[in-house]
Amino acid sequence: MYKTPAIVLRSRKIGDTDKVLTLYAANLGKIEAVAKGVRKAKSRLAGHVEPMTHATFMLAKGKSLDVVTQVETIEPFAALRDDLDRLSRAVYVCELLDRFVEPHADNFGLYRLLLATLRRIAEREDVDTPVRFFEMALLDALGYRPELEECVACRTKLAPVLNYWTAAGGGVVCPACRRDEMAVRPISANAVKLLRLHLHGRFSDVSRVRVDAELALELERALGEYVRWVLERDVRSAAFIDAVRRRRGVAHGIEPRDVGYTGAATAANAED
Ligand SMILES: [Zn+2]
Repeated sequence: MYKTPAIVLRSRKIGDTDKVLTLYAANLGKIEAVAKGVRKAKSRLAGHVEPMTHATFMLAKGKSLDVVTQVETIEPFAALRDDLDRLSRAVYVCELLDRFVEPHADNFGLYRLLLATLRRIAEREDVDTPVRFFEMALLDALGYRPELEECVACRTKLAPVLNYWTAAGGGVVCPACRRDEMAVRPISANAVKLLRLHLHGRFSDVSRVRVDAELALELERALGEYVRWVLERDVRSAAFIDAVRRRRGVAHGIEPRDVGYTGAATAANAED
């Protein structure tokens, strides 16, 4: 038996009444555990094992999977479930962490980052800045820090002009090195500056910057592209965020980005 605080990243149904939970535990990293009978109406565990719940788990070592014996909720994060904008961002960060990390790779910094990010998404009016900050911190923590100071091709210091962003190249490429055949997107001097602040600053520094919709979208596209390149596949819940935005008509008149994925996840199937 062991006890650990953890955040539920996702859950999937197994058997008639059970669920397998993917947890991100404080000092254990990502682990999977079975919550037996949790889909029965009278389960004591139900209500404590929903995705994004922060709880203390009592677990028993099992033959293949460990078994949840007791759960005590620390933070239910109800605010994340009551609002589609918040929910879509929270599902996205949980999915991102799940897909970026290997099981049993302990990283207390990432645990704290996830917790802080969920709290920010639950409490703040601007739900996107916490996601951008999380993406950059996650990339940095796992060794994928993008190059934001020098051109990735010629290694000269970047001038504050319109440069180009290349996910495959690992950062910014200068106008002189840009080739037509490269998969690049223009990136403004302000966007590069703001990305640097995401990388080196604290969240309080980043959240103080006034960001207009166009700049916010530039950052979202650059980091999103980088994340997808690292994962070599689309992040399913990014399409969910886009679907929520379309529904609300808050896409700022800009076409939703092409994520190459048409079946937008819903809150219901994000849980499975
Ligand atoms: Zn160059």
